[in-house]
Amino acid sequence: MANVLCVLYDDPAEGYPPPYPRDDVPQIDRYPGGQTTPSPERLDFRPGELLGCVSGELGLRSFLEQRGHRLIVTSDKDGPGSQFERELPEAEVVISQPFWPAYLTAERIAQAPKLKLAITAGIGSDHVDLQAAIERGITVAEVTYSNSISVSEHVVMMILALVRNYLPSHQVVREGGWNIADCVSRSYDLEGMQVGTVAAGRIGSAVLRRLKPFEVGLHYTDRHRLPEAEERELGVTFHPTAEELVEVCDVVTINAPLHPETEHLFDERLIGRMKRGAYLVNTARGKICDRDAVARALESGQLAGYAGDVWFPQPAPRDHPWRTMPHHGMTPHVSGTSLSAQARYAAGTREILECFLDGRPIREEYLIVDGGRLAGAGAHAYSPGDATGGSAEAARFSAS
Ligand code: NDP
Repeated sequence: MANVLCVLYDDPAEGYPPPYPRDDVPQIDRYPGGQTTPSPERLDFRPGELLGCVSGELGLRSFLEQRGHRLIVTSDKDGPGSQFERELPEAEVVISQPFWPAYLTAERIAQAPKLKLAITAGIGSDHVDLQAAIERGITVAEVTYSNSISVSEHVVMMILALVRNYLPSHQVVREGGWNIADCVSRSYDLEGMQVGTVAAGRIGSAVLRRLKPFEVGLHYTDRHRLPEAEERELGVTFHPTAEELVEVCDVVTINAPLHPETEHLFDERLIGRMKRGAYLVNTARGKICDRDAVARALESGQLAGYAGDVWFPQPAPRDHPWRTMPHHGMTPHVSGTSLSAQARYAAGTREILECFLDGRPIREEYLIVDGGRLAGAGAHAYSPGDATGGSAEAARFSAS
């Protein structure tokens, strides 16, 4: 019998299940490029249901209990004495979503002698100390591609919202006002602007593809260059470094994983190399940006706007400066957990669990760490190391 410890976000404030505005979600069988969507033996949920919160249980309970395993689901994840820390010593599998990450630091891994598998229900396993997982021989797997397109849609939405000054104009209406000049004095067209992505992986290249019809100049930087035919088809210009990219762009979107190479990449210096009045959209990971450098750049006008859904740590403390800085379009971490995305990553989590429990190999493209080294998608996009430093501060949210 395995103990499966699953950390999910809290239920809706009005109770579970919520009333759903739609009856179904489109069925997606393949991602761009041909990879198939998750294919577990069966599903015990209806796609479109809220699965990522505690009562949703990622639709895993009957599957695990029928096989004789124990499923523990909690949102109480931070601080000593949290249910997560209390259950960790017996856990063989930990499941966590980046939206409400159960930080698996080296200290916590040391408290989990039975831990064999850490599953990210979603994409982005930076909440796990990957170096410690490598050293302990723990497998880290995520549901690659499950919400990449979801995020790319969100990035396009946030770019348009910032450039066109959507959120402040919406606020004018909500407050009963009609001052057009207030709405438009920060509003521009995206057409003709230069837009660049830091990383052109699954999300970054989907952003480029979606922005092409907007008649903008497209730019990217990445560790590996896209095939020449793809560059030509998209009409995108490659820049060898983030510095060279940001200097020519009016809008920059960050779509790289958080790992030692990208931690605090957007610091005072790099933001200082951006064009005055540039927009920065970060749905990748909060820690890729220096928190205070972003707030200062918005106050000085070096940045005209900043939007995204990722913070560090998560949940963000109530006094986090990104909640109150000017010209921001931040949300909690939501872009990759639409009901549509949840159906895919819940199915992918079950597929990974079926493989693990049956002793079958997990799909190569889902692996981040395996056999004591970076593997699969992790070997391509990450570097070894730890990006969890400072995550204990997440406990301040529930304490305040
Ligand atoms: P991919 O692995 O497809 O793409 C990541 C890309 O980042 C790869 O092309 C990789 O390069 C590139 N990269 C890695 N390090 C660097 C670097 N130092 N400089 C430039 N490029 C770099 O992943 P996805 O596109 O699907 O997801 C990207 C990230 O987005 C995730 O890791 C996660 O952090 C975040 N995310 C956020 C979500 C949300 O809800 N907000 C949901 C899903 C993901 P290469 O492989 O060529 O070496």
